[in-house]
Amino acid sequence: MILAGGVGGSRFVRGVRHAHPEATIDVIVNTADDITLHGMRVCPDLDTMMYALGDGIDPDRKWGRNDEGWRIMDELRTYGVEPTWFALGDRDVATHIIRTELMNAGYRLADVTAALCHRWLGPESKIRILPMTEDRVESHVVVDDPEAPSGRRTMHFQEYWVRHRAEPDALEHLLIGIKETSPAPGVTESIAAADLILIAPSNPVVSIGPVLAVPGIRAAIRAAKAPVLGVSGIIGDAPVLGMAHRLLPVIGVEVSAAGVGRHYGHRDSGGLLDGWLVHDTDAGAAEALTAEGLPTVATPLMMDDPAATARFLAVGEELVGRRA
Ligand code: GDP
Ligand code: CA
Repeated sequence: MILAGGVGGSRFVRGVRHAHPEATIDVIVNTADDITLHGMRVCPDLDTMMYALGDGIDPDRKWGRNDEGWRIMDELRTYGVEPTWFALGDRDVATHIIRTELMNAGYRLADVTAALCHRWLGPESKIRILPMTEDRVESHVVVDDPEAPSGRRTMHFQEYWVRHRAEPDALEHLLIGIKETSPAPGVTESIAAADLILIAPSNPVVSIGPVLAVPGIRAAIRAAKAPVLGVSGIIGDAPVLGMAHRLLPVIGVEVSAAGVGRHYGHRDSGGLLDGWLVHDTDAGAAEALTAEGLPTVATPLMMDDPAATARFLAVGEELVGRRA
C-alpha cells in the first residue's frame, strides 16, 4: 500500500512494481489538486499515476500523454477562452471527457478511476489506483495581493503552481472542504490489510499532506499492523524536482530530509513512520534522526529507472523488517 501524489509518486510506484511484480499494490492518490476546467473534471495526480503505470506518459515532461498534440488548447486560446495557463493535451482531453461523463451519470470517482485503469493497467492488474476520497477537497494557496481589499488573495493550488510557478511567497496552504471528507471506498480496508505501507517521496504539503488530512486515514495508518516506510523527496536542501521548497516553510517544516522525517515522525512519538530513507549525501541527517529515535538510513534515492528505486526499496524493507 502506497500513499502518493503525481510525478514523484508514480516514479516511485513503478519502482515498487519492478521490485515486486507479483504483489498486489494499492496506491492511494491525492485528489486535492483536482480542478474543473472547461467543464471537464481533471484529476492530475490520478492521471499521472495511471499514464505512468500504463506506459502512456510523456517521458520528458513526466506528466500528460506521450505523442501529445495541443490543437484543442490552441483553438480555445484563439477564441480567447480562459484559463490558458493549464495545458490540456488533445489525447489527455479524452480522459477528462470520459471521467466527466461518467461522474455526471452518477458514478463515483473510485469506479471511474477503475474503469479508466482497465485500459491502462489491464483487467488482470495487481495494481489498484484509489482516489483518497470521493468528496470534493481543494488545495488553495494564500499570497499577498496589494490590490485585494484584504491585502491577500487565495487561489487554487494549480493556479499558484502552474500559472505563477510558485513564485509569490505562499503565506498559507488551505485544504478547502477537508473536514467534511471521508476516505474513498477501499482505502481504510487497504491500509488495514497491507503488509507494508509506503509513503512515496511526493510533496509532503500538497500531495501526501491532503491524503493524511482526510479524517480517518492517519488514524488507520497508525493503527495498521504493517510497518510504515517513508522516502525523502528532499535531497540536501532542495526537492529532486519541482518546487516543494516553496511550500514546506508554510507548514513550518524545514526544507531538508531531516525536516520532512521529523514532520512525519516516528510512530512511537505520535507520528507515522517505522523507518525513513534519505539520500546518501544526507548521511548526517540519518545519524541525527536515528539518534532521535527515528530509524533512518542514507542510500541513493534517485529514481532514474525502476531498478534504482527497487534497490533503495530493498534497503528500506530491511530497515522496517517487512514481513513476508
Ligand atoms: P506531483 O503531484 O506531480 O507534484 O508529484 P509528487 O508530489 O508525487 O512528487 C513530487 C516530489 O517527488 C518532488 O518534491 C520531488 O522532490 C520528488 N521526486 C521526484 N523525483 C525524485 C527522485 O528521483 N528521487 C526522490 N527521492 N524524490 C523525487
Ligand atoms: Ca500533484
